[in-house]
Amino acid sequence: MIKMIDPQELKALEFIKEYGAKGVLQSELWKFLGATSRLGSRIAVKLEEDGLIRREKELNKGRWTYRLYYTKKEPEKIEWDTLDNCPCFLCSNLEICGIDKIITCKDLLAWMEESVSKKG
Ligand code: SF4
Repeated sequence: MIKMIDPQELKALEFIKEYGAKGVLQSELWKFLGATSRLGSRIAVKLEEDGLIRREKELNKGRWTYRLYYTKKEPEKIEWDTLDNCPCFLCSNLEICGIDKIITCKDLLAWMEESVSKKG
């Protein structure tokens, strides 16, 4: 079953995943997402709570911050092959999309229906 996932969390996870074993400073993630540190922190904490990343404290330029690592654990609620052709990755609304839009988005609903029907 496909679970609703915040598109920004998916985008953040893909970004963190690209950095592999070296990880990435959380400030780089905020820049990539165009998010405030508060929103970025919320996303990182949520991903960590879901077991998709881990955060390690790091002293950088005299300030404590976090480095984010993809856990390489196969997420229970995300099957990457099921995300093929997900309209969110190319959507111009991704950065402003929220749960209200996800629930009513015709493109996403059509893609989900197609994905479910393919699985049988
Ligand atoms: S508007 Fe639809 S396609 Fe675009 S990011 Fe939101 S849910 Fe995805």
